[in-house]
Amino acid sequence: MVSPQQFPDFYFLQGSQQQTLDFTQHIDCVLITHFHLDHCGALTYFTEGVGYNGPVLATPPTKAIIPLMLEDFRKVSATQQRQSQNNQQNNNNSGGGETAFTSEMIKNCISKIQTIQLHETLTIKDDIKVTAYYAGHVLGACMFYVECNGESVVYTGDYNMTADRHLGSAWIDKLKPDLVITETTYATTIRDSKRAREREFLKQVHETLDNGGKVLIPVFALGRAQELCVLLETYWNRTNLQYPIYFTGGLTEKANFYYKLFINWTNEKIKRSFTKNQNIFQFQHVKTLDTASIKSDQPMVCFASPGMLHGGYSLAIFKDWAGSEKNTLIIPGYCMPGTVGNKLLSGEKRIMIDGKEVDVKIKIYNMSFSAHADSKGIMELLTHLEAKNVMLVHGEKEKMRVLSQQIKDQLGVNCYCPANHAQLKIYTDPKIEILIGAHIINLMNQIYAKSLLNFYRPNSTMYLSNCLISVDNRTEIDTNIEICKPLMISSHESQNSQIIDFASQQKQEHQFKVDQTLDQYEQVDMVLNWSQPISESIQDITLFEGRLTDAILNSILEQKKLAFGLKNLIFMDEELKEATQLAQVIQDQYLQLDHDNRTVRLSFGSLETDIGYWLKDILDSLN
Ligand SMILES: [Zn+2]
Repeated sequence: MVSPQQFPDFYFLQGSQQQTLDFTQHIDCVLITHFHLDHCGALTYFTEGVGYNGPVLATPPTKAIIPLMLEDFRKVSATQQRQSQNNQQNNNNSGGGETAFTSEMIKNCISKIQTIQLHETLTIKDDIKVTAYYAGHVLGACMFYVECNGESVVYTGDYNMTADRHLGSAWIDKLKPDLVITETTYATTIRDSKRAREREFLKQVHETLDNGGKVLIPVFALGRAQELCVLLETYWNRTNLQYPIYFTGGLTEKANFYYKLFINWTNEKIKRSFTKNQNIFQFQHVKTLDTASIKSDQPMVCFASPGMLHGGYSLAIFKDWAGSEKNTLIIPGYCMPGTVGNKLLSGEKRIMIDGKEVDVKIKIYNMSFSAHADSKGIMELLTHLEAKNVMLVHGEKEKMRVLSQQIKDQLGVNCYCPANHAQLKIYTDPKIEILIGAHIINLMNQIYAKSLLNFYRPNSTMYLSNCLISVDNRTEIDTNIEICKPLMISSHESQNSQIIDFASQQKQEHQFKVDQTLDQYEQVDMVLNWSQPISESIQDITLFEGRLTDAILNSILEQKKLAFGLKNLIFMDEELKEATQLAQVIQDQYLQLDHDNRTVRLSFGSLETDIGYWLKDILDSLN
């Protein structure tokens, strides 16, 4: 049965099971990328079961097809439950027919979905902007780009970087997001060329049929099914084969209906055939399977759902056909551990189905037709997007680890593979457009020059208006003003985000206009504020202030050690005095303690995010 235990534990979203449920308060928006159950299966439970009431976004095809999937899911679950009850010999189990959601709940849930078109940007709660992009994969699948307060994330959902026989390839703007969350189903696979895979598939099918066997292909009702039907239909037409091809369940007609309805989401070839009035999804050779045909001895091809052989038609047919070595099973997609499909692919030859042991003699092939990006595709997308941080999800741990290393090595960006329930903190450069005044630059230079600190490490990047500047490790710090002046002018002219690696030797190579004076950039409003109450446990605020100075001093000395690359450094009196002064200057400049209101406020410029986050960490450790 569909028990709540099968769904994600949403309580983690609000941090605690102790509080009353209020997901609407904790979540601004739910984004559904496509209709596959591992992406939308818990939606009804979330809106109708635990009461999330905020916005839910999906594309029109996804909104249209999700109810079919959820209804199918509900029915298969109910069947499974009946079976398990029969197995328990109806031992007084009173929960008959109980599922986590009903058809009525599915209907209510779907009515809450708001649709978003490709390339459309919707604004949620005033400051969250969501844009959808084409993802390939299955009909209606999209990626989401989310922007909020200058920070941005791309969530890929499942995607495909190469077009297939019925869908196009994923397409997205070069968005340079702070974070890309990408699926990694085929994290380390580079799939053999598509044509070779198709030839191999057709060869196995044809051979089995000519030898008098039957071919079972477990598929999701929508998606790969259509892809492979197109492939077989074309082959049957070309070779004039007469063997029947069957497709189980009433979903065929519905699936085809939706493909026709959303023909714009398919690839160019399908669209063209449709405009010529020869809808390619109206198959000549593919027919709906009747129960008599399953038992018949004639060779045939049968597509049956579900794809991982975890119940329904595909498992029932497998049970019938598994005992003959003349027959062939082709698993075209991924199978989750625990499913019969997964067991077969791991080579198990005796499988328990409904309490009976089945001897597996059928030939088994796993041919990956599943439309996910392979490692080449994932790298291609990340390179194109120019992601600053990457998070890997939807994959197997070991493969993700390998890909993660590859991403770090080849793209030079942070890459994370957080476990379920893990919290991940990613620092971003706040992208607030500012004009920088000379006094800020002076102040920065003073700090840098005096301390040999690590605040601005060699080649660290700073955000200057629209221009990212990388400063080399220089000692003639005063000339920094000279550097920034022309660069600002240049970036204002170009209006492009660009990274300039600025080394002193390169200075002559840039063509700067110098007729604008620095005065233009004097009005500076660069302050990022952050404040928090001082912990109740701290009684004496003056004492706290002292501890703060000490902590800053210690951290400065620590930084100095790092700057010299030493484990231990004995500080001379003079150095210690200088560092103490610096600690005081920094404290006065960036931190304000409000004794009356018991708050501490941290203010720092966009240029000074390294200092800001450094101080914030110190404060966090004290408070
Ligand atoms: Zn999917």
